[in-house]
Order: sequence, then structure tokens, then C-alpha cells
Amino acid sequence: MTRNQGINHSILELVGETPLVQLNCITKDLKGTYYAKIEAFNPGHSAKDRIASYIIDKAERDGVLKVGDTIVETTSGNTGFSLAMISMVKGYKCILAVSSKSSQDKIDMLKTMGAEVHVCPANVPADDPRSYYEVAKRIHLETPGSIYINQYFNSLNSEAHYHSTGPEIWKQTKGQVTHVVVASGTGGTISGVGKYLKEMNPNIKVLGVDAYGSVLKKYHESGEFDENEIFPYKIEGLGKNLIPSATNFSVIDQYEKVTDKSSALTARRIVKLEGIFGGYTSGAVMQATLQYHDKELFDENSKVVLIFPDHGSRYMNKIYSDIWMRKHGFLEEVYKESAI
Ligand code: PMP
Repeated sequence: MTRNQGINHSILELVGETPLVQLNCITKDLKGTYYAKIEAFNPGHSAKDRIASYIIDKAERDGVLKVGDTIVETTSGNTGFSLAMISMVKGYKCILAVSSKSSQDKIDMLKTMGAEVHVCPANVPADDPRSYYEVAKRIHLETPGSIYINQYFNSLNSEAHYHSTGPEIWKQTKGQVTHVVVASGTGGTISGVGKYLKEMNPNIKVLGVDAYGSVLKKYHESGEFDENEIFPYKIEGLGKNLIPSATNFSVIDQYEKVTDKSSALTARRIVKLEGIFGGYTSGAVMQATLQYHDKELFDENSKVVLIFPDHGSRYMNKIYSDIWMRKHGFLEEVYKESAI
């Protein structure tokens, strides 16, 4: 979609075509050139606008969704906000099952956008009837005229990024991109972007970002689902305690894991050094990039695109709250690092 310079007929016409911005300071000691693709410029302030609008448009075209119907989804918040926004504009009811790990800001925003929100415990197995997957499934089955977006197991998720985010990066870098660093949750972004870019140039490296406490990296390396990898962590939207079929592991070259603390501190450094107010996973993606650099994946000629998935305003009561940071023992380094 090309951004219309004149009148837009609804907010939904503004989905996609997000800017690519060079990082100048946080990367100054690194080899290569680094660009952030800032998905907060979507009208719902995250990359999830892309999949929500792609999946709903297709359901409308296929005749499975008509005005007054209900959209049901499991979501860490961002997909929910995008679905709620589109439902508001198009006249659907939106019911969301949300993890209790989601920030209160996100839950309040979903409600403000008109969604019905069910908060479910974060630290139960995915097949537990209380999990947000099972709750969403049940609501879908009990609600006539509903569709279940099912982003973790819906191939349209990565297809949306294959048709939008991937081509945008190729075009914005004039085909010069050498690496992309992408957070992996459902895996829709990394899989769609990775597939498109590798089709354009098979030498492009697709670098994933996973969380300590998640199974994705180990699964990618060994094909094994290792329950011992799973433990609670704080970053929202990154990593998983199951293997999402929306992830195409074959287009991912490797994963790097990041900690809650380093990601939070790095998100704050991005604000200080670049003036870019990213979310928690933007910090995670930047942190993973620094770690990949330490492992010598980049050289002077590297043109590395980092996808920053959402906006910092969603984390005011988390990583941008000194109280929250202190409570989790994350803060001391901020003062040290801010001296840089
Ligand atoms: N960052 C945030 C804040 C997210 O909400 C998500 C989605 N879970 C991701 C990153 C990961 O994107 P994807 O689901 O496409 O892998």
C-alpha cells in the first residue's frame, strides 16, 4: 500500500508503509549501518495492524465475516488493539483473551477501543482450560457468527508480512539490506519478512530474537520441544512456551536469546540516544543486535534492519517506570550506562 498524501477515507488506510530510520548513536561503535523499521507508525501503534487488517480483509472477501459478527482472539495486547480498532471502524464485536502478563495500560486501551477483555493466567500450560488459548477457543465455539483469528496457527499471519513488511524493507533499502533482526513471538513477522527477502536475495541473513524462558531457539537448533527451557519472564510478545505453526523456521538463520533486564535497559538507551520511544521488544531487538555484533556476524558493509514492533507508551508502568524497574532490580545500570 502506498501512503496517500491527500485525504484518507478511514484510519485503516494508514496501515503499513512505516518509516525506516538510521540509528546513529547507540550503534556508533559497531561495524555496519543499522536502520530501525518503526512499526509504531501504524495507526494502532504496532506491526499487528498489518496482520489484523490482512486477515479481516480476506475473511470479508471470502464471505465468512459480515457486519455485526464477532472477532475472537488470544493476544498479548497489540493484536487485540489492532483487531479492536478495525472492529470499531467496520462494525464488528471484538472479544479478546489476554495474558495476565500484559500491562494494565494495554488492557485499558483494549477496553477503550470497545473490546470485551478476558484476562487469563500467564503461567499455565497452553492446553490448560484457563490459558488464553483455551479461553479464546471456547468463546469462539460458544459465539455464533464469530471468527477466531488464531494468530499463532494462522498462515495468513506471515502472509501479511510477506506482502507488506518484507517488500517495504526491500524497497526502502533499495535491495541493499544484508541482515534483518526480528523479534519472534507468533513468528509471523520474521517468517513473512524472511521468506520475502530470501526470495529477493538468498544471501540475506534472517536473525531471530527469543527470550530466556522460551522454547523457540532450542527448537530451531535441535528440532526438540524442550520443556526445561520454559520459565516465567517479563518481556511481552517475545518467545513462546509452544511451537507456533505460524513460524517458518526454515527461513530463520539463527536465534539469539535476551534477558528481561538487558532488554529493558536497552529500550531506555534507545530513547536516550536516538529519541525513539520503542516498546519492550524494541529493546530486545536492539539488545540481540548488540549480542549478534559481539559474535561477529556483521562487518563494515553490513546493512542491518531492526524491526521495532511497537510504541513505548504501552510500557509506562513497566520498563519506563523507575518504580517497576527498581522492583525487579533492573535500574542501577541505567545511571552507569547513561554516562556513555
Ligand atoms: N513485539 C511485540 C510487542 C509483540 O506484541 C509481538 C507479537 N506477539 C512481537 C514482538 C512478535 O511478533 P510476531 O508475533 O510477528 O512474531
